[in-house]
Amino acid sequence: MELPGLLPPRKKSPEVRIKKRELSKVAKSTTSLKLLDENITHCFACPRLVKWREEIAVTKRKAYLDQEYWGKPISGFGSDKPRMLIIGLAPGAHGANRTGRVFTGDPSGDWLFGSLHRIGIAKIGTSTHKDDKQELKQTRITTAVRCAPPDNKPSNDERDTCAPWLLREFELALPTTRAFVGLGSFAWSALFATLRELGHPLNTTKFGHGAELRYTHEGVEYLLIASYHPSQQNTFTGKLTTKMLDSVLIKASRFARIN
Ligand code: SF4
Repeated sequence: MELPGLLPPRKKSPEVRIKKRELSKVAKSTTSLKLLDENITHCFACPRLVKWREEIAVTKRKAYLDQEYWGKPISGFGSDKPRMLIIGLAPGAHGANRTGRVFTGDPSGDWLFGSLHRIGIAKIGTSTHKDDKQELKQTRITTAVRCAPPDNKPSNDERDTCAPWLLREFELALPTTRAFVGLGSFAWSALFATLRELGHPLNTTKFGHGAELRYTHEGVEYLLIASYHPSQQNTFTGKLTTKMLDSVLIKASRFARIN
């Protein structure tokens, strides 16, 4: 394969397969969030996750047998000049891995977009498919790992292999981003690891719903804030309520001065 340091926009060549040894170089040389979103979809760096995402796309869930699954990595979604960046764990097997858009097509997505809609950030309050004309105001949603993992549990090696995509996404978003929201402890850790790698001086802050860290780096003020992940495990049991999620997102969006 001829490795493109920078893939041209919209080119969807099935021959382009980014392998583990090339990933970091491709990520570093990608010059915009738009290109990054495209390049991520060509990633084949984690054999177990590639197999799983493609297998799910063939076997499907009974309710979606008539649908074509995306079955590829999931890019970030939203503004390319975000003031607020929301980070989740990884795509859902029958959610984003089916629909092709982050937090779309499963109850977690409806929770997140429902909240973003209530606080005036998302145009519509559901997230069922990628052609719904959804828009986010000065906000971007992404995940620490881009391919659906079995049992929602990426290995440490898979997390580390995928990290250069998140690192580059943060680098490209940082000129505008002021508030970061970590959904769940996995995303919270990835958030800290990524910003530290970019030289941000972060005090260790234990994960918990509403945990936050405010700091200044090179004259710019930032807020990191945590929420329990809007997974069914948390929302069905009442561990996370709509009020709790709204409250974290309101705090972050106000800090980021989204208008
Ligand atoms: S999880 Fe990340 S690094 Fe691994 S194949 Fe998917 S996009 Fe590539």
